Amino acid sequence: MTGLYVHIPFCKSKCHYCDFNSFANCDEHIPPYFSALLKEAEAFAKRENEMVFDTLYFGGGTPSYVKADLLAKTIERFRLIFDLAKNTEVTVECNPGTIDFTGFKTLKDIGVSRLSMGLQSADDKMLKRLGRIHTFEEFKKCFFSARDAGFDNISLDLMYGLPDMTMNDWEYSLEKAMGFDPEHISTYALKIEEGTPFSNMSLNLPDDDLFADMYEKSVEILENSGYNRYEISNFAKPGCESRHNLKYWHCDDFLGIGAGAYSCLKGKRFSNYSALADYISSVSKSGFAISETTEISDFEKMSEFVFLGLRCTKGISLSEFEIRFGKSINEVFGPQIKKYYNLGFMVHKNNHLRLSDKGFFVSNIILADFV
Ligand code: SF4
Repeated sequence: MTGLYVHIPFCKSKCHYCDFNSFANCDEHIPPYFSALLKEAEAFAKRENEMVFDTLYFGGGTPSYVKADLLAKTIERFRLIFDLAKNTEVTVECNPGTIDFTGFKTLKDIGVSRLSMGLQSADDKMLKRLGRIHTFEEFKKCFFSARDAGFDNISLDLMYGLPDMTMNDWEYSLEKAMGFDPEHISTYALKIEEGTPFSNMSLNLPDDDLFADMYEKSVEILENSGYNRYEISNFAKPGCESRHNLKYWHCDDFLGIGAGAYSCLKGKRFSNYSALADYISSVSKSGFAISETTEISDFEKMSEFVFLGLRCTKGISLSEFEIRFGKSINEVFGPQIKKYYNLGFMVHKNNHLRLSDKGFFVSNIILADFV
């Protein structure tokens, strides 16, 4: 089945590290944007009428910045427009300071099954430095409002490698995050992206060794606390993995709607206009807002299958590779596999190829070799 991603590009303010396609102070665009989303959804449902979806993911931006009633109405309409399977995983990303108990209750009642919440750090000074709109206490209140509303599948996002961050600071954030007993935790390394406020500041960032140690520490602490690392940056209690995100790493088809959204369907990749005005005006004219379409070559398909699949601790199924591509993985990537296997960075077991623990620490270098 296919995954459905819906991009909600509105935020209360821009975080200092963020280069996502998200906009602050654009509230007047919210109503026409949501009308455009429905129009685009109808156009795709008509064009690809055989698609059945079993995951629906509202990402952003900050979807919870938009009134919960509007999100609920949109979900209701999507159920009519698209063929959504009965057990569809419905995730909404949210941030503290944008939603309260009543909003969570509205989302729960409409069938949202999973929340992904941005904590990033448990230290108020760091949150301020990152340009986040909330304190740790506000996060706490928000998290428990969601629990009170009945959410039993919540993911937290945390960041490491932050300016002036020490190992103690990172352990503190991890411990505090685990204090919430969430079902899922994603840990991301800060990347300084061009054009963000952080890119114009002189920041004291941890060196490569400390970065690696911080990653190692997350694995150690989270695994010892019952979270399985199922992907490089993602940890979950058993059965609480993100079904939607697994589709990306398994190279399954997904449709993305909204400004700047990206899709991968039937061997083609396409992306939408990123600017709000371009997206809205294109959809109002034609129902679609596709700015670019690329045919994915056979080699690219094989390469993506390997480098995305190796991000997962389960690795890739060798027989699935043969079924999908009609040849063995060794015919295409034999030399790379031999090299990393001999170095102890890869493990071949139960007809699966995966990175070893040692391999995960240098995954960037290894995965780049399959592109
Ligand atoms: S809330 Fe998320 S999407 Fe919005 S500015 Fe901050 S990091 Fe970017």
